[in-house]
Order: sequence, then structure tokens, then C-alpha cells
Amino acid sequence: MSSSKKLDDLIAALQVMPGIGPVSATRIAYYLLDHRRADGLRLSSVLKDSLEAIALCPDCRNYSDGGAERCALCSDSHRRESGLLCVVESPMDVEAFEHAGSFSGTYFVLHGHLSPIDGIGPEELGLGVLKQRLESGTVSELILAVSQSVDGDATAEYLAAMARRQGVKVSRLATGVPIGGDIQSLDSGTLASSLQFRRQL
Ligand SMILES: [Zn+2]
Repeated sequence: MSSSKKLDDLIAALQVMPGIGPVSATRIAYYLLDHRRADGLRLSSVLKDSLEAIALCPDCRNYSDGGAERCALCSDSHRRESGLLCVVESPMDVEAFEHAGSFSGTYFVLHGHLSPIDGIGPEELGLGVLKQRLESGTVSELILAVSQSVDGDATAEYLAAMARRQGVKVSRLATGVPIGGDIQSLDSGTLASSLQFRRQL
């Protein structure tokens, strides 16, 4: 317990951040109060605005500015015209591809993978949206950048079947993705080569 109820509230709230426990939260709270009040207020304002506004892009389910607007990546006509659609499990995977600069198509973010035991099925992954994109005739190749795991393999098989039903070529990242490993943990060079040498399913 500190000298102020509001300070206790601040310390408790800061612990929502990953890796921040009571000691770190207390240190951050005193730092903001002692030295960075204006920046702390700006942070609170940005947090409120972004958390209230950021929504899922209607095309790729990555985070976008909200409303019915496509995200910045889906709005890029060159990316759409490439016909390449890369399916990833997490928005962080999109960041990894963009950081590597190795992909010029559009993405679809699953926010997970199929996991019947956890109640995660096609609906939870937004696969209806993906089906519409495959049916639209604008996708020439579906590239599966899902994890190399039992659930990742099952997800890849399901997505490959979806693509085949629409006559869309389908491939999966090849080399470099470790068994049980995440896309986002790869270095840029490995990610670029695993994309280049993707294998057709
Ligand atoms: Zn998008």
C-alpha cells in the first residue's frame, strides 16, 4: 500500500503489460509522476484513442484504423494486383514479413489456428472472409505461412482444401521454419528464403 489510493490504482493498472510485475509497475509509476507527467498523459490519450478505434480490416483481419476501411496494406493496389495472398497466424507475422521486405502481396490473419480441443474452428478464424476472397477470382496463389505444428498442419490442410475447391494454387513455406516454431521468430533472411522456396501443396 502506498500513500495514495490513486497511486495504488496506477500501479495495479500498469501490471496489465506483459513482463511488468508489482516492482516494475511501482518504478514506472514513480518515474511518470516524478519526471514524465506530460508524456504519461499523452500515453493515456493515445492508449484510449487507439484501443477504442483499432479494429479488424474487413479484407485481411489485420488491425486497421477501424470502420469499414481496408487497412493500409490491403489498400495498396499493387499488392492486390499481385494475386498473392499469404495466410499467417498472427499480426506479428505480418510485421515479420514486412520487416524482411520479401513479400509484395496481401495477407490474411487467422489470429490463431484450428484447435478443436480449444473450441477454435473455421468461424473463429474468420475463414468465411477468406473463402469470399478466394471466390472473388482475384487470388492466383494462396501461400500458407502457418506454424510447423500438429495444429498448424491441420490448419494448412484445411486451407489447402478450401483453395483447391476454388481452383486456386496453394503452397506452404518451405525451409527454415523450425518444427513448433513461429514465423515471427525467424530472421529476415530465413523468412525470405522460406518464402522463395515455398512448396506447392
Ligand atoms: Zn487489410
